[in-house]
Amino acid sequence: LIQLFIPLNFLGVLYREIKQALADLERMFNLLHVNREVSDAPDARPLQVSGGEIVFEQVGFAYDPERPILQGVDLRIAPGTTCAVVGASGAGKSTLARLLFRFYDVNQGALRIDGQDIRSVTQESLRKSIGIVPQDTVLFNDTIAYNIAYGKPGATQSEIEAAAVAAQIHDFIQSLPQGYDTVVGERGLKLSGGEKQRVAIARTLLKNPPILIFDEATSALDSRTEQAIAAQLKAISADRTTLVIAHRLSTIVDADQIVVMEAGRVIERGRFDELVSAGGAFARMWALQSGEEQDDARAEELVA
Ligand code: ADP
Ligand code: MG
Repeated sequence: LIQLFIPLNFLGVLYREIKQALADLERMFNLLHVNREVSDAPDARPLQVSGGEIVFEQVGFAYDPERPILQGVDLRIAPGTTCAVVGASGAGKSTLARLLFRFYDVNQGALRIDGQDIRSVTQESLRKSIGIVPQDTVLFNDTIAYNIAYGKPGATQSEIEAAAVAAQIHDFIQSLPQGYDTVVGERGLKLSGGEKQRVAIARTLLKNPPILIFDEATSALDSRTEQAIAAQLKAISADRTTLVIAHRLSTIVDADQIVVMEAGRVIERGRFDELVSAGGAFARMWALQSGEEQDDARAEELVA
């Protein structure tokens, strides 16, 4: 019986290892966003980024042909400027980011970066040019150092640490017994949503791409950390084309352009002050949120 048990037990261990390895592989593909629906054109060329102008031209898109998501979206983000996208959950904000990274191809219209249709360039060059801090960051089952360096293969330890300092996660990492060698993820230390997000920010800072996408990048953070990071994000996005999908409207006061989405369409656009004084959808959202923020501040005072 023992003779039978040992190999079975061994097979059990092997099975678990293989299953884990497959799960890791799946996560890696998710992270690399390998998507069978999108492939390089036979004559695809590398994307040439000069200023980083982004144009959505009459973009229509549906995940499922029965249910249109984006309809007639026109958007021009001038080189080096910041465009904020706001709107209710399900309005299609993250879909804009996914299309720009080319997880999916548009069904109507076109998406251009510096005049090049993104369907005509290699995915590798496109994704090298764009840094994305997604809503839900997936980390590799590997060390924190590896997870940050993923943004720039071959990065030195001091580059990794500088990025972590800027993303406000260095002190936390240093406080761990194994520091930057701490394994995170499934089989290692579980990080909170805010900590994972800061690792993703550090990775993006290290990657240093000409185009940035932040998808509600600071939504999982407490307000003090959020403010500290907002200053960093502002600094790195200063001379880069940035698409920021914003949750807290107070973080986009300085955006060059704000786009309000509703049910897959752009319903308003302008600068913060213009939209507030226009008294439309954005003004109503702002009135609601600034009221809530005052309530939060009052609650914090009461607790303190
Ligand atoms: P937002 O970021 O504004 O909350 P999304 O762009 O994520 O909205 O989603 C827009 C709509 O598309 C939602 O109704 C959502 O349910 C749908 N959707 C998002 N991702 C998928 C998907 N992978 N497959 C099918 N429908 C999706
Ligand atoms: Mg979203």
